[in-house]
Amino acid sequence: MSNSMLAVRFYKPGELRVEQVPVPEVGPGELLVKTSVALTCGTDVKMYKRGHPLVSPPQIIGHEFAGSVIAVGSGVEGFKPEMNVVAANSGPCNKCFHCLMHQPNLCEHLDECIVGFTWPGAYAEYVRIPERIVRQNTFQIPEGVELEKVASLEPLACVVHGWDLVDSVTGGCVVIIGGGPIGLLHAQLARLNGSRSVVLCDVVEERLREAERIGVDVTVNSGREDLMTRILELTDRRGADLVVEAVGRPETWESAPRLARKGGAILLFGGCPSGTMVSFNTEQIHYGELQIQGAFHHTPSAVARAFRLIVSGQVAIGPLISREMPLKDAEEALLQMGSGKALKIALRPPS
Ligand SMILES: [Zn+2]
Ligand SMILES: [Zn+2]
Repeated sequence: MSNSMLAVRFYKPGELRVEQVPVPEVGPGELLVKTSVALTCGTDVKMYKRGHPLVSPPQIIGHEFAGSVIAVGSGVEGFKPEMNVVAANSGPCNKCFHCLMHQPNLCEHLDECIVGFTWPGAYAEYVRIPERIVRQNTFQIPEGVELEKVASLEPLACVVHGWDLVDSVTGGCVVIIGGGPIGLLHAQLARLNGSRSVVLCDVVEERLREAERIGVDVTVNSGREDLMTRILELTDRRGADLVVEAVGRPETWESAPRLARKGGAILLFGGCPSGTMVSFNTEQIHYGELQIQGAFHHTPSAVARAFRLIVSGQVAIGPLISREMPLKDAEEALLQMGSGKALKIALRPPS
């Protein structure tokens, strides 16, 4: 094995460089993994366009990946070389206030090692997995499961965690705003959580067709049709039991409560640009007893359940991956994703 590797590093907004960098050395409790596949993510697109508060350049980005173990650090149990593994991008400390309050997604020490942000990421031939992640959020991939599908562990874990925070929708109507990869995962979780009808809206026709292929009941092009009118028609004029915002824009956050029924819930899932504000109708929230729920990141429990949902085939990942590209074309891949020409793209390092 050579001691240098190909890696994609972020330098500043709009600038990624494909470079040769040293292969990382495995430390105690860590794993060194040869990346088989790394996926593009909406967060990577945002980082590429406007930077990210947690990233100090130059940094190797990429946090959705799967590969095979090359080296095992001292004290690691349960993993050995040549095993195919997938890991989430972070692991909580289990000691801080929020960890002790059973909110490990809000861990005060999460930022210390987030793969692809504060820790060198997976847009590289090799990635070193931090000890906390090895111990809590790394899994052996069973035979016969495609690595590119399991690589979507992190986004699905975030979605699973979001659903932990809202009331049951059994028999109800769920509206998903946004048909990107995250919206398509929410649509599948809605079904698994027993909703009777799943409605998804977007302004990109291809995304709506993809949503229909994964079993969404009603798709609405909200650029051409009034979403509110449609939801009222579908729900005996009551509104949706749950509205999930999966876009991350103040305008779509503000539209969410209007679509919910009295006593319903809205899950504000998409992260908006920092510093943005929204306003809501107080009467609707007060008299309508609306549950307004934010959601951030994932917990080890959500990661474990997301892993099971993928390997058991209960959540379809294939439709979220539009195409494959070589790792060196990461910038082009992020541009395609950012312009809506692709959902996720599977990046392949040279083998
Ligand atoms: Zn991601
Ligand atoms: Zn903690």
